[in-house]
Amino acid sequence: MLLLKNIRKDYVTASETVHALKGINLAFRAHEFVSILGPSGCGKTTLLNLIGGLDHYTSGDLVINGRSTRVYNDRDWDVYRNHRIGFIFQSYNLIPHQTVLGNVELALTIAGIGREERIRRAKEALDRVGLSDQYYKRPNQLSGGQCQRVAIARALVNDPEILLADEPTGALDTVTSVQIMDLIREIAKERLVIMVTHNPELAEAYSTRIIRLLDGEVIEDSDPFSEKEEIRECRRLRMERIRAQRRENKRRRHSKKERARMSALTAFRLSARNLWSKRGRTAVVGFAGSIGIVGIALVLAFSAGITAYIESMQDDMLSGNPITITESTFDLNALMGMMSPEQKLDVIREPDRVYIDSLIEYLTETYEKTNSMRIENTLTEDYIDYIRKMSKDYYAAMITGYGIDVTYNIYTDFYPEKGGDAEYHSVNVLRTIYSSILGKTEFKSYSSFITALVKTFSQMPSEEEYILSQYNVLSGKIASGKNEIMLVVSKDQAMSDLLFANLGYYAQDEFLNIIDKTAKVEEGEVSKYDPTLDREYFTYDELMGKTFYWYPNDAIFTANYNESGEIDKIKPFTYNPSASGVTHEDAVELRVVGILQPKETVQFGCLESGIYYTEALTEHILSSSLESQIVNYIEEKGEIMSSASFKSGVVYEYSYTYTDTDKESDTYGQPKVYTETGIVGNGMAGMATLSQRELGGDSMPNSFTIYPKSFQDMNLVTGYLDRWNSNQDVDLGDGRILTADEREDVTYTDTLSLIMTLVYTMINIIKYALIAFTSISLVVSTVMIGIITYVSVVERIKEIGVIRALGGRKKDVSRLFRAEAFIIGLLAGLFGISLNYLIGGIASIIVNRLVGVPNIAILPIGQAMILVLLSILLTSISGIMPASSAAKKDPVVALRTE
Ligand code: ADP
Ligand code: MG
Repeated sequence: MLLLKNIRKDYVTASETVHALKGINLAFRAHEFVSILGPSGCGKTTLLNLIGGLDHYTSGDLVINGRSTRVYNDRDWDVYRNHRIGFIFQSYNLIPHQTVLGNVELALTIAGIGREERIRRAKEALDRVGLSDQYYKRPNQLSGGQCQRVAIARALVNDPEILLADEPTGALDTVTSVQIMDLIREIAKERLVIMVTHNPELAEAYSTRIIRLLDGEVIEDSDPFSEKEEIRECRRLRMERIRAQRRENKRRRHSKKERARMSALTAFRLSARNLWSKRGRTAVVGFAGSIGIVGIALVLAFSAGITAYIESMQDDMLSGNPITITESTFDLNALMGMMSPEQKLDVIREPDRVYIDSLIEYLTETYEKTNSMRIENTLTEDYIDYIRKMSKDYYAAMITGYGIDVTYNIYTDFYPEKGGDAEYHSVNVLRTIYSSILGKTEFKSYSSFITALVKTFSQMPSEEEYILSQYNVLSGKIASGKNEIMLVVSKDQAMSDLLFANLGYYAQDEFLNIIDKTAKVEEGEVSKYDPTLDREYFTYDELMGKTFYWYPNDAIFTANYNESGEIDKIKPFTYNPSASGVTHEDAVELRVVGILQPKETVQFGCLESGIYYTEALTEHILSSSLESQIVNYIEEKGEIMSSASFKSGVVYEYSYTYTDTDKESDTYGQPKVYTETGIVGNGMAGMATLSQRELGGDSMPNSFTIYPKSFQDMNLVTGYLDRWNSNQDVDLGDGRILTADEREDVTYTDTLSLIMTLVYTMINIIKYALIAFTSISLVVSTVMIGIITYVSVVERIKEIGVIRALGGRKKDVSRLFRAEAFIIGLLAGLFGISLNYLIGGIASIIVNRLVGVPNIAILPIGQAMILVLLSILLTSISGIMPASSAAKKDPVVALRTE
């Protein structure tokens, strides 16, 4: 059944060629106990390794069951070793990090046998060698004899036809040797055992046949296989082969795993166990490997946290930075371009002279540049139609502006003295009065500045839902009709003193008292501040109880006629600043119906502090003002005279009284009385220019303020606006299609996107720079893991030999180390991610405590997973070379290595 034909084995080394076997001719029976005797170095181990398929002969032939092995490939040899051969070594060659059971299982594992069967069979084999109570011990907890029993169990577990034993008792004492020999003799009853020994007594006592070797040649064979026997044997073998073939076919039908094969999972388990046995080192390696991952993870976490924070601000900021379309705007992109410094070529400067820089040229250039950035938009009727046609789904709210200044037309009651008689003034006049009064005080240099900051009446968006998403109604309701207005207070439930003053809530002396309270008191002077006039708040009732009146132009602008009955060209109209007693059918009584406050979570709301009126009022103003005398006049003049500045000009006069009743400050003990003719606006002395638009005299909108639903949805709006400026045709919906030539570009302002683009660019630059930086440590740890895997290959060299001897493929060995690298990569990745979540978590808590921004460094789980995969990928790559070097290790050399 096993036939060696003229087998030669030469070892070629650099210095010489060793002829280890010099033409061996031997035949073995299926069941016999053969001992091979001979002095050290005569070639016994070499012969055994050749028979076991662990090493390959240089020439000759090894015939197994009548089949020549000359045509065997690696795979065939692996299967041969796994299924037909069992090896026992002098030094046991047990894998130290596996249990006894695990060691025995290994041969079955390599054969790809399922877990349950594997355990059952391994236990059977161990029971057979008398180790039923040692399954879960480690090899280093066993005696030498027990170790050899484990090795025998491992050799037998696959039920091999041939058991090869290389000096199995070489390391054992006599008593134990005898026990082992008894065991081997038992085994030899049912299979071929070939045992190498240099103990002739043992050989004589136990074996059925003794072969003596000397210098690579057989010098004696006690029971050669006769030719007659051989023929009989061959016939028997043929029959057996046919039977085996049948069995094989049957088995093939039942199971697919008939070849030696170790699954990836097994490799994984073996390596995991190895790493676990060196868990201290594994932890250190994992930690070292994780540093790069931690670095990148932290960069990503912070970037994600900051981006998320900014994103959360975006929608909020959006309500404070809507998209606006106005008649005149700045090209912000060009402005940004100008801010980047211009490259100035180095000019050669001679000594002994001073050069002339052209300031004039520079200024002209700058002026031109700045001017070129101003964009005049023409909002044509077509464009206005286009904007109005925009889908309501694109935005949350839109305000159409007509450039109306309602402060001239809205009047309210005003008390020069607290508790005194009321006067009725327009809000505009109130502002002028307070500005003038401030001008008389030590705050005079600020007066115009302070009053310009106050925004009294503005139009609110009609979308109630949008407002309610940002504001709480403190009292009343949201204004809806033309006669309803509402008050918006700040987050801390307050409104500025100036705003209260401009809306006529303060009595004049109360307001002056605020100034006195703030004013510095010179030495020797007594403060004029009167605490009884001080007030800390207004009640909702006070605020909502006040009424405002809107009067139409015709009620408050009176035309001045000259002798010839025409409207005077110099002073065409007189404005009535105090409208007491005025009545008009178009007049509207405005009631404060609600008080609103921004929600706690809102940083930037769509409504600033102040009073808001409805779109309905705007419509009313337009319908009333378009036909008013003053508007008609401006329109007419505009047609007669082409001068643009005159077209929008109108003159009016008014007067008011401001009485300073503080006697103590006056040297003569008399009250000071100022009577003054007010000058409103920026016109000539005693006159103001009011444009047609400010008077509500233009039904064409001149601005749009669009509040997109979210930052994400903003591109719906900008996309729609961009289409107008594109080359495509634009469909106005009513059958009109405008080609690009028929349209004029309209530039809109989208401040938020611009800011965000800048911010994101910055974040990305920083992010990538940091990632590039931390990647260096990733490279370092990858190389390190490669080296560690190499070290592991050297450490596990015995295991490599055993696995190959048990029939494991090169691929299985390489898989083993790739699995090891994989596990380290996984560990490093998981470790890095955990560490990152720990550091990031702490950082997040700290940042949240300090500045109230949550989750600043929490890595998104998806990115964490990608990083773990990256870690695995990198270590797997670094494991490829060590793994393939392990696979190439010669099993014989591996087993010889001590
Ligand atoms: P034994 O087992 O009988 O002591 P071996 O079979 O181990 O002897 O070795 C037989 C001869 O082959 C020895 O001279 C040994 O030095 C040589 N030899 C064995 N393996 C190698 C090898 N890998 N390279 C070179 N020479 C070797
Ligand atoms: Mg030897």
